[in-house]
Amino acid sequence: MRILIVEDEKRLALSLAKGLTAEGYAVDVVHDGLEGLHRAGEAPYDLIVLDIMLPGMNGYRVCSALRAAGDDVPILMLTAKDGEYDEAEGLDTGADDYLTKPFSYVVLVARVRALLRRRRGAGATASPVLDLGGLRVDTAAHRVHRDEEEVPLTTREFAVLEQLALRAGEVVSKAEILEHVWDFAYEGDPNIVEVYVSTLRRKLGASLIRTVRGAGYRLEAR
Ligand code: CA
Repeated sequence: MRILIVEDEKRLALSLAKGLTAEGYAVDVVHDGLEGLHRAGEAPYDLIVLDIMLPGMNGYRVCSALRAAGDDVPILMLTAKDGEYDEAEGLDTGADDYLTKPFSYVVLVARVRALLRRRRGAGATASPVLDLGGLRVDTAAHRVHRDEEEVPLTTREFAVLEQLALRAGEVVSKAEILEHVWDFAYEGDPNIVEVYVSTLRRKLGASLIRTVRGAGYRLEAR
């Protein structure tokens, strides 16, 4: 899952990025509203964490510009502590959720997960566990079981598997996996995806992930 953080308080932005990266998300950070809007149009983000008071363009305007362009990416807005900004106004511009500063990191991660779950149509309170018959992927705890046995995966291996599991039975292209699992700074070989897929096959069984020639990969749900 790939997240864009638009926040001009650099220390806050970097600590959020560090924390979310450790959770296995691919994270990009910008410190300016206009740049945030531009970046959001360049990559298929799964979620945007958007501050309100920003240089360049404020968060409300970034949000309404994205919605006006038909972008329905989940947006979690960060509001000022003093209540200077009205949450109702933010909702009007199309944000999905709010956090008032200062917030605890644990709460932020919980909101991020809830929004990502809602995004995939499971409902914010639905179980974060994908049960695919013989393969169980817990997207909150980042644990994977194959035939009742836990299989340890690195955060990146998990992120690749999650992309395939969320769309089990469908073909997911290498480019889509790359875009959702690796951040903007990644300039290496796109064939890195193949390396991860072969590791996943070794750990979870060769027949789990099929290669669809010229199209991508398909996770076979039993
Ligand atoms: Ca700010």
